[in-house]
Amino acid sequence: MSKKRFIAGATCPSCKESDTMRWWQEHHVEMVECVKCGHTDRRSPIASEASESDPKQEDGQVIGIFKPQ
Ligand SMILES: [Zn+2]
Repeated sequence: MSKKRFIAGATCPSCKESDTMRWWQEHHVEMVECVKCGHTDRRSPIASEASESDPKQEDGQVIGIFKPQ
């Protein structure tokens, strides 16, 4: 089951439209798709299996956080 959800405020890197991006999870990978131009992209794997001792923090991006506006 993959539920696609729109990403509020996201801008498509391809057609530059905003609020056209939606995302879903596929095999623990976050996919994003632009419904306007069909651009798709793959987000980094979710850090659930990342080493706990790694102090690096790369997940500063807001994708996946949805605040109703
Ligand atoms: Zn687009």
